[in-house]
Amino acid sequence: MTTSPDATAPAAPTAGTARHRADGAHDALPVPAATGSVAEWTERYTHAVMDTFGPPQRVLVRGEGPYVWDADGTRYLDLLGGIAVNSLGHAHPTLTAAISAQLGTLGHVSNFFASPAQVALAERLLALAEAPAGSRVFLTNSGTEANEAALKLTRRHGAGSRPRVLALEGAFHGRSMGALSLTHKLAYREPFEPLPGGVEFLPFGDSDALRTAFAQDGENVAALFLEPIQGEAGVRPLPPGYLALARELTTAHGALLVLDEVQTGMGRTGRWFAHQHPHVGGGVLPDVVTVAKGLGGGFPVGGLIAYGPQVAALLGRGQHGTTFGGNPVASAAALATIGVIERDGLLTHVTELGERLRERLRSTGNALVGEVRGEGLLIAVELTAPVAARVVARALDAGIVVNPCTPTTLRLAPPFVLTDEQVQPFVDLLAALPADLAEETP
Ligand SMILES: *Cc1c(COP(=O)(O)O)cnc(C)c1O
Repeated sequence: MTTSPDATAPAAPTAGTARHRADGAHDALPVPAATGSVAEWTERYTHAVMDTFGPPQRVLVRGEGPYVWDADGTRYLDLLGGIAVNSLGHAHPTLTAAISAQLGTLGHVSNFFASPAQVALAERLLALAEAPAGSRVFLTNSGTEANEAALKLTRRHGAGSRPRVLALEGAFHGRSMGALSLTHKLAYREPFEPLPGGVEFLPFGDSDALRTAFAQDGENVAALFLEPIQGEAGVRPLPPGYLALARELTTAHGALLVLDEVQTGMGRTGRWFAHQHPHVGGGVLPDVVTVAKGLGGGFPVGGLIAYGPQVAALLGRGQHGTTFGGNPVASAAALATIGVIERDGLLTHVTELGERLRERLRSTGNALVGEVRGEGLLIAVELTAPVAARVVARALDAGIVVNPCTPTTLRLAPPFVLTDEQVQPFVDLLAALPADLAEETP
């Protein structure tokens, strides 16, 4: 049998790769964002982009560290971090270099093939999750896909003989039909019914309701889905002991405990996973953990960690798939993000800055500022009047991005690289909120 010389020859630079240059200037196409004002781009947006998100607050063209710039050249302090995504801030040089290097080497191959970056990322996630031997990872492109995979996996538990799935009121698990069936908000669900069935919502953090849900028909429960801290609902932590009880009841009835750490995972709360805080998780080992948001530092990537060989085997060959999930570039982005968090000691920084920031937010002396809660750099400021949207608008005009996740709640999920000094303008803004804000014309 003869082998073609091409098949064994070492990879030689092709004409295409030879034209690449490190400075990136060669072959560059014009960047459209280089011209046009915020008003012009907003107008064009309304004629080209589907109106699912409402009018954009600004049109952004550039970012660096915790700052972004709009098309008019105005700078903003980004305390939302792309909704708990940009852990390393914007345009982090290590992340940018890792993505560019991987894309310039091998960008995408489909899951008919493996890549070192994909395998290394799966290994890193298993190690960070402290998952036992036999655990496995499935990589996705987003949080909703991670939860979709988790829901499919739980359907296979008991060979499909467990029709009940439990979730909590206030839960947000994503927008695809399966993930949406686990999401509580009526406005998100109702237009798309019928959704996949069997999901029951229990009152948030209510231990007795949880016991009751298992006391009757507990053997028909496939899984209980929980966010250790509910993100979209307003940074609401589960009450102490709740996760331990959830583990006890799921184990007793042979159901799976699925923790959605899409928002709380990958260092956001000062540990790799929120449930690893003793006071949050009480030492529980889950059956499934889902991640996304911060995993790739801004590059779209998510995943599901299945704990132990039995859970990992629930999705077998051909039972789930994805074209992009875990592609080399996404995996390299996640590895670089994890690497920088470790190298720069960012988990400690997240913990310490988070504590100091909450303390400063609590001492503004402004009567509109109520409870301040959260873990690490996932923080909620509860306002004493339903003025969150107005505070957000004021902040934006003052060059600060925050998010109103309920009418009375501001959410902060800033980059881990933020400093005390950089965040001070937001503390000052809260301190200076006028008492009659509720009466102001919007
Ligand atoms: C954002 C989020 C999701 C959905 O993730 P997408 O990447 O937007 O699909 C799921 N669960 C939680 C807890 C989230 O915060």
